[in-house]
Amino acid sequence: MELFYKSTRNENVMLTASEAILKGLSDEGGLFVPDRIPILPVGMEELKEMDYRETAYVVMKQFLTDFTEEELKSCIKNAYDEKFDTEEIAPLAKVDEVYYLELFHGATIAFKDMALSILPHLLTTAARKNNVKNEIVILTATSGDTGKAALAGFADVEGTKIIVFYPKDGVSEVQKLQMVTQKGDNTAVVAIHGNFDQAQSGVKAMFEDKEMKEKMEKAGYQFSSANSINVGRLVPQIVYYVYAYAKLLKNGEIQEGEKINVVVPTGNFGNILAAWFAGQMGIPIAKLICASNENKVLFDFFDTGVYDRNRTFILTESPSMDILISSNLERLIYLVSGRNTGKNRELMEELKEKGRYAISDKMKAELSGFAAGYASEEEMRHAIHDTYRNTGYVLDPHTAVASAVYKKYRKESGDETKTVIASTASPYKFAKSVLHAIDPDKYAGKSGLSLMDDLKEVSMTEIPKAAEEIRNAPIRHTAECDVCDMKKTVEEILGLR
Ligand SMILES: *Cc1c(COP(=O)(O)O)cnc(C)c1O
Repeated sequence: MELFYKSTRNENVMLTASEAILKGLSDEGGLFVPDRIPILPVGMEELKEMDYRETAYVVMKQFLTDFTEEELKSCIKNAYDEKFDTEEIAPLAKVDEVYYLELFHGATIAFKDMALSILPHLLTTAARKNNVKNEIVILTATSGDTGKAALAGFADVEGTKIIVFYPKDGVSEVQKLQMVTQKGDNTAVVAIHGNFDQAQSGVKAMFEDKEMKEKMEKAGYQFSSANSINVGRLVPQIVYYVYAYAKLLKNGEIQEGEKINVVVPTGNFGNILAAWFAGQMGIPIAKLICASNENKVLFDFFDTGVYDRNRTFILTESPSMDILISSNLERLIYLVSGRNTGKNRELMEELKEKGRYAISDKMKAELSGFAAGYASEEEMRHAIHDTYRNTGYVLDPHTAVASAVYKKYRKESGDETKTVIASTASPYKFAKSVLHAIDPDKYAGKSGLSLMDDLKEVSMTEIPKAAEEIRNAPIRHTAECDVCDMKKTVEEILGLR
């Protein structure tokens, strides 16, 4: 049965999957949401035996109904290949009675690779299907990991250009080096003098800018988004939750039908929303636990029903979660309002104008499947330290936030349900923070890429190729701009001025 995509802000918009992927964001600023959430078409007995690529096809085909079998299988094959350093693509590590779902085995050693290695293929396939002749310009704001993963995915992909904005002082040394050394003639990387939310708002404003759209059209360009608001990001992320459940079952860790908890270190609310979709598709999930760092706007939202971004933006050691406007939450708001575009629009306008909104009690009641928590920087460091001391397993700061939140949740609730924690980055991406947490005395004041060698010794794991590469790569991108000049910068890069 064909599935269509609706906008969260306009009743009358209805697109095919390939159209929604191409567009990224609806004209009036809404996000695309499937008009129904399909249930898994095959049973666990079958899913249990499938590898990652087979699982990906079964899950994604339900959402991308206008892609042919051949098209989708080709996208999947091109995405989930030797770029990943493990055959399983998303392995589970059992540590201390919880299961870490390692989503960092791709080209840039963070979970963004799970979706961004396939998005360029979905997008170019979608362009072909819709007879798009324009060159597609991917415009992306990044809090650190998306940027590199998108750059790696799109570099030298024919018919595309990619421009990435990142907050100059808001990403780790490794994240920055990964981006500024990016190869590919179609890539541009710009540091902005501002934070991630400002970068994201600037990008969103360009997507909604009609005058710019016309100018682009004349020059043979059109925008698309690789940000987590694109459904082409959301759909591939559902796959690994289905895969993880099936593997737990196969390995005899759970019984058929047994519910599990899932903890997700959250920023833009994309990854956890994908987990929620997996639950709606039929994966038995008891609680979905939303873990925040000190920017705990989501914790407060689940606690009170009030989303309030009017607060100080805190730079933490889990920069990919330093976010005060979680864009993907809009999809959940829309769905729990009963797909009420008017209501959703009203709330999103309040967010834009006053920086806050409150949902109704009825909507809040729909969120009972979620639990939420947050971890301070100290709690995050303790999680890294203690997990290493007790088990030898090394967590990155984002995963450590989730781990700390889970520990508190379990203690407070007494809930002993088997639990999967989404592990979103390799510790090598944040070697300095990790080593400082493991042994503050030894590593105090030390920084630099040589810490990767120390981490190798400490963790007894190999340095991933992606981390090794940036050590010697030349810097190719040095552009910077003020927040107010983002549009001008894009026009210059595209030769529109
Ligand atoms: C992006 C990112 C997150 C947050 O994911 P969202 O989908 O934005 O909620 C968490 N950890 C890491 C390492 C990330 O790169």
